[in-house]
Amino acid sequence: MEESEWSAKYPLLRSLRDLRECFWINDQKRPAAQAAGNCPFTIRDIEDASDRLDRFAPYLAAAFPETAVSGGILESPLREIPRMKKALEEQSGVPIDGRLLLKCDSELPISGSIKARGGIYEVLKHAEELAVEEGLLSWTDDYARLAEPRFREFFSRYKIAVGSTGNLGLSIGIMSAKLGFHVTVHMSADARQWKKDMLRGLGVHVVEYENDYSLAVTEGRRQAQSDPSCHFIDDENSKDLFLGYAVAALRLKKQLEEMRIAVDREHPLFVYLPCGVGGGPGGVAFGIKTLFGDAAHCFFAEPTHSPCMLLGLYTGRYDGVCVQDIGIDNRTAADGLAVGRCSHLVGRLMHPFISGAMTVSDRHMYRLLARMADTEGIRLEPSALAGVPGVLNLLGTGEGRGYLVREKLAGFQGQFTHIAWATGGSMVPADVMEEYYRKGTEGE
Ligand SMILES: *Cc1c(COP(=O)(O)O)cnc(C)c1O
Repeated sequence: MEESEWSAKYPLLRSLRDLRECFWINDQKRPAAQAAGNCPFTIRDIEDASDRLDRFAPYLAAAFPETAVSGGILESPLREIPRMKKALEEQSGVPIDGRLLLKCDSELPISGSIKARGGIYEVLKHAEELAVEEGLLSWTDDYARLAEPRFREFFSRYKIAVGSTGNLGLSIGIMSAKLGFHVTVHMSADARQWKKDMLRGLGVHVVEYENDYSLAVTEGRRQAQSDPSCHFIDDENSKDLFLGYAVAALRLKKQLEEMRIAVDREHPLFVYLPCGVGGGPGGVAFGIKTLFGDAAHCFFAEPTHSPCMLLGLYTGRYDGVCVQDIGIDNRTAADGLAVGRCSHLVGRLMHPFISGAMTVSDRHMYRLLARMADTEGIRLEPSALAGVPGVLNLLGTGEGRGYLVREKLAGFQGQFTHIAWATGGSMVPADVMEEYYRKGTEGE
């Protein structure tokens, strides 16, 4: 299609190309039951993944002592953030009547980001398959045995590889190295030095690329294909990653119940998820929509410089289009979100489930980072702030209010629960965090 035709058909492209912050409502969203009917995964798949993580819990508790307090279950707190809420209201002039919560995946054990869900899950699933096939393990065993040296020796005959902007590499690298696998992480140019250093310190083979994430994945996949002993964790296509992330919804449901927060038609749940390639936020959103149906409304949030999912959904081209095609550079300080082309699996799959998507500037993420630290004492990496403006977009823009009217929710605002998914941060070294914070306070 000619560029002028594109612009006429897709007016939002101009705003995207001009790097303006956008809020897009998805007119292809379907009732949850209908969306689920066309989806290859069900609640069974999420429960199967959850059961697998339960089987591995004794191993994780033994291998990573910091997880022993939670019995080897990797989960993060769900926190009310009233002071941040007040700051957002004051700065925007938009009243937030309902609750605003932060899902602190930044505090997930082992790797400090949302990647501790899907990434670790896929490594564990692969290890289980190999060990069971070899006759070394059965599903009814106490998996604490996996910490024994003979398992490390066994896994050292196998390889794992992954392409990453940083955090996925960190999760896969740490988990695979602990089990004894030979692991190679293909890091895109966005990956931070400290992540590469940390992995090399664990004996992980880190390959660096001067190009962006898509190339690191393609190259990693190509190299792995020629080696039958190598399992490539494919962030653009993996069902296991996706389902590992989806388990978050079962845990979230429990946390909401413990906090006595109702989720139903008149008490809707709005979730704002920072999105890179889409596996993490897509998997979490899939779980949430599967458990809460039409009472849940999920939005993706991306940097203005890397709006690959918004672009893919909006044009219906999914991974058939990338941000560079419309003249965007995919250069952002939000390294976890520096992806120019969305997941082959997730774009299509999640289109009927998702309420909308938004873009947030790097400057805005930095400011929110400093504000979150000042008001709540919570330290996050830039990517993890991308979902925070979601509540203001929903309540404070014409697009958002139009959505609430169509969903017959206008007037219930006092009963809304908003969750910003804070996807990472606790592993960031103090000096790097200080620099982030300083950037967020510049010019104030
Ligand atoms: C990876 C990542 C995301 C997004 O997950 P995708 O699966 O890439 O969409 C969000 N925030 C942080 C901090 C991440 O590392």
